[in-house]
Amino acid sequence: MAIPLVDLKAQYRAIKPELDAAVTRVLENTSFILGTEVQSFERAFAAYCGASQAIGVASGTDALLLTLKAMGIGPGAEVITTPFTFIATAAAITHAGTQPVFVDIHARTCNLNPELIEAAITPRTRAIMPVHLYGQPAQMAPILEIAQRHHLRVIEDACQAVGADYRGRKVGSLGDAGCFSFYPSKNLGAAGDGGMVVTNDVDLAERIRCLRDHGRTGKYAHSVVGYTSRLDAMQAAILGAKLKFLDGWNEARRRHAAYYGALLAECELIGPEGVPWEAEGCRAVYHVYGVRLQARHTLRRDALLEHLHALGIGASAHYPLPLHLQPAYASLGIPRGSFPVAEAWADGEVSLPLYPELTTQQVEEVVAAVRSFSA
Ligand SMILES: *Cc1c(COP(=O)(O)O)cnc(C)c1O
Repeated sequence: MAIPLVDLKAQYRAIKPELDAAVTRVLENTSFILGTEVQSFERAFAAYCGASQAIGVASGTDALLLTLKAMGIGPGAEVITTPFTFIATAAAITHAGTQPVFVDIHARTCNLNPELIEAAITPRTRAIMPVHLYGQPAQMAPILEIAQRHHLRVIEDACQAVGADYRGRKVGSLGDAGCFSFYPSKNLGAAGDGGMVVTNDVDLAERIRCLRDHGRTGKYAHSVVGYTSRLDAMQAAILGAKLKFLDGWNEARRRHAAYYGALLAECELIGPEGVPWEAEGCRAVYHVYGVRLQARHTLRRDALLEHLHALGIGASAHYPLPLHLQPAYASLGIPRGSFPVAEAWADGEVSLPLYPELTTQQVEEVVAAVRSFSA
């Protein structure tokens, strides 16, 4: 692809000396599991998010799962979330032995629609899990207000949104806990898998620390049945070296997103309603640059993707099938038509190349390729 969807090589080239030094340091000191590399990255990440505690775990999915487990949310309980997200959000809920309960999204933010949440609350509901999809903050004020009124926990799936702000605070620090993924293509990516939970709840943090490491309270003392789900020291060292660049990378993403938005709002295929929109007080970090085709063009989405691929442009759909329609969740028996806004997004969304190192000229090239399809 001349312009790929993401380009991780460009980032490595830009900061190679820092990353190579971090890797060498870990290889030389051979402290591969937990230890000072993990501790110092946890401290730096907690401070970055404005939370008092950060617990490094093996993945974003495990961050969500261990948080649910540590909160005692398990069989018999229900957790409210969005059907328009990566499947890991719901998989964590399912692995905790809990039932995901989907609520439709807002048409412009494509995140949980707070106005629909209360109707989904039952006596079994224990938590709300908003997702800051594409790096766009969910509407946290109304979500937190509903949670407080119904005595529910709020677990933020911030896997796509590291560094995004909601009313001046970092996402992940607004609910009871925030969960992050360091999957390589995320805005802050490891050289492999990794994840983090941030929270201001010291007891919750302690339970997650115990769960991630075999339920340990001593070398061979185990208070609970736990997991092997630690953030590797190697990944912590790499992530620690990258953290100081994150704000600059996110700013570059925002600049490209703004330029795309200005150009694509003029494009008949998409229009002003189809480009990303930041709600009042939200500062998105564009993990994905997702546009929405005008309803009358929805059926041409896959043809547009093929057209872009033929021109060497890496475009994709996030996500082509909402979770209630995935075979993995067929057992929930939720028919098409149940979440019309999520379904419309799934049918009409197109993700365009977005990464910090993209150039203005490349943005123009992508837009020209989109225009050449409409012509
Ligand atoms: C990436 C992602 C996850 C899962 O993270 P992993 O580190 O791959 O386990 C969960 N939720 C969302 C919204 C994600 O984008």
